[in-house]
Amino acid sequence: MGAHSFQKLCENFDLPCLHHKSFQLQADKLYSDTNKVRDVVFSKAAELVRKEHAKLNPSVAAPETLMDTRIAVSYDGSWLTRGHTSLIGLGCVIDVLTGLVLDAHVMSSYCQACENKKALQKEHPGKFADWERHHLGLGACDKNFDGTAAMMEVHASKIMWARSIRKHDMRYTIVVSDGDSKAFNAVCEMRPYGPDSVIDKQDCINHVCKRLGTVLRNLVADASKRKITLGGRGAGRLTHNIIRRLSIYFTRAIRRNDTSSEMRDAIMASAYHMFSRDENHNTTYVPKDPLHGVSIMLQRHKMQYQGPIPFFSTHL
Ligand SMILES: [Zn+2]
Ligand SMILES: [Zn+2]
Repeated sequence: MGAHSFQKLCENFDLPCLHHKSFQLQADKLYSDTNKVRDVVFSKAAELVRKEHAKLNPSVAAPETLMDTRIAVSYDGSWLTRGHTSLIGLGCVIDVLTGLVLDAHVMSSYCQACENKKALQKEHPGKFADWERHHLGLGACDKNFDGTAAMMEVHASKIMWARSIRKHDMRYTIVVSDGDSKAFNAVCEMRPYGPDSVIDKQDCINHVCKRLGTVLRNLVADASKRKITLGGRGAGRLTHNIIRRLSIYFTRAIRRNDTSSEMRDAIMASAYHMFSRDENHNTTYVPKDPLHGVSIMLQRHKMQYQGPIPFFSTHL
């Protein structure tokens, strides 16, 4: 809540209001107090994370190894307002094993105090310069970022990776991505743990599972723009129902297999199964695990796959 909304609140409750300067003073005090609490909470979270990881991998945890803890984290940004115009944004590092937040960084491209001095800046640039020097010298300026809202997430990630060792004695060496890899790329480029230490990206399974449906729906939409009907109703059409079923098979194939080649086989098996007709069974891919709903159905078909299926060969 800013000074202006606080004023409104007071008006509605018929309360005396604070001058915006006193409001700012109180807000700063509150902010620095919550900052202290935040650091305590993050250190405690880091201790817990360290313990949990030590349980999994005791050799790393032994104090004589002097190794910092290497963990997998997920990283995401959020903004005060939606759309890409927000003046305030934050980035968050979360440990994947425990789900605890390890670090967060708030970015603001706005400072109320500076905003209040806009008139002074125009009329008395000299006086403004004096004020600004004082303001910045105190570390009182809230503005810590200059750029677009989207870049906030990227910038915050660099700050948190750069301070992970100093802050928690940890390296965030694996990033579970939500598909948007701008922050990941920035962190990789920065090489926060030295030139030889690589940071890996792993995709979030829930997001990957949504991809097939998106691709197929786009395909139908694109084709219909070019006056080719893939969707619609009836047998042999790429209907919403078929897309939904393919997505379910796709999700299952990813969740139930460990290696990417097994996943690939299971995914292709489901696709070929969907193409198969009574007179033309496609059984090129039959997963080894008979528990797959798809493969049970597939094994009933004994005939050979006849040739490439045009749109799958280009889109998968
Ligand atoms: Zn300022
Ligand atoms: Zn996700």
